[in-house]
Amino acid sequence: MRKKFILILALILISITVYSQQPPTVILVSFDGFRWDYLHRGITPNLQKIIDNGVHALSLQPSFPSKTFPNHYSIITGMYPQNHGLISNSFYDHVEKDWYGMRRNENEWYLGEPFWQTAQRNGILAASYFWPGSEQDIESRRPKYFKAYNHDEPYLNRIDGVIEWLKYSEDKRPNFITLYFHDTDSYGHEFGPNSPEINESIKRIDSVTAYLISSLKDNKLSDVNLIFVSDHGMTEISRERIINIEEMLSGYNCFFEDSGPLMRITPPSEKLEEVFDLLKKNEKNFTAYKRKDVPKHFNYSNHPFIGDIVLIAEMGWSLADNRALKRMERNYSKGDHGYDNHNTDMHGIFIAYGPKFKSSYKTGTLLNIDIYPLLCKIFEIDPRSNIDGSLDRIEFILND
Ligand code: AMP
Ligand code: ZN
Ligand code: ZN
Repeated sequence: MRKKFILILALILISITVYSQQPPTVILVSFDGFRWDYLHRGITPNLQKIIDNGVHALSLQPSFPSKTFPNHYSIITGMYPQNHGLISNSFYDHVEKDWYGMRRNENEWYLGEPFWQTAQRNGILAASYFWPGSEQDIESRRPKYFKAYNHDEPYLNRIDGVIEWLKYSEDKRPNFITLYFHDTDSYGHEFGPNSPEINESIKRIDSVTAYLISSLKDNKLSDVNLIFVSDHGMTEISRERIINIEEMLSGYNCFFEDSGPLMRITPPSEKLEEVFDLLKKNEKNFTAYKRKDVPKHFNYSNHPFIGDIVLIAEMGWSLADNRALKRMERNYSKGDHGYDNHNTDMHGIFIAYGPKFKSSYKTGTLLNIDIYPLLCKIFEIDPRSNIDGSLDRIEFILND
């Protein structure tokens, strides 16, 4: 009888030890273009419940430029765009003589190490129900389980897919999962950040959150850690505030990349000074920098594909070449992002909830490059040494 009791006790102790050695589970959720202050409109009761029981930062500061691909990749690598290589949603590769774009998955454009790769090198499986950079053409650079981006995939299916992964047997189950929803970005562009339509989108995202929480609960997955982020915010733009840069530089045969909040210009090399002087003379509602002189706080000068000259528009103004101008005149949207990442209209959200995080805890603005070292800390694995993020700036949100 006594032997049996000791045996049972030993078994219980062993299972407790094994269980406590299991890595935690984290779902990193991105609501594209969800501006930090959308949470203060009184229309997000479900996100509010998570805020009340978790960590809520005043805002999440994106990296420059405050666009989708650069920032999702900054979040997942802990690096500034100039260092992880995605200097915009699209750019010209002057070496390969080819355009990078959001559907290009050749790994040579993606520098740094995404967290799913760091995790998997350390024996932790990862999965992605969408994330920029999750479909790279080399297996070791991707999460073990990933989905090819499908803009039209119903939101609830995405959550059901994540729950399916979490129900896999222990040896196959991913412990780190990303999840992505574009809704607030699309409606923010089309109708602007102050429209009734964006409020409907914010409410839709709140319901999606409720479904995620209830699905976790129904499947006895309540010990999962959740981190909700957004890649950037949104600001109102106007047809009345467009500047045609190509017209300003007519006759110089410049190469233009990007439009709207920022533009990169490569003039014929012998014309660089002349072009730059002309831009400086006409510098109104935008600022022109030579690449090497872009102020340090933008961290946007190290990468050769940035081009010779960078123009950053004032908030709400749009820069255009002739082609972009035609597009804007045809179908002008009411909101945009990509501007100075220090302006709070460009800031996103950061909410974290679960056993690893403090509860009912409020803090100031966090930097999105610090999320990668935070994830490494949660899983107790070493971050890459060449990152820009810092654990010291964010560690205090974790439970002691
Ligand atoms: P932006 O032009 O910066 O507003 O980018 C937002 C758009 O990026 C979304 O509406 C999606 O269509 C697209 N997008 C987001 N994630 C991905 C992905 N993983 N693969 C391809 N496109 C994506
Ligand atoms: Zn975005
Ligand atoms: Zn967008």
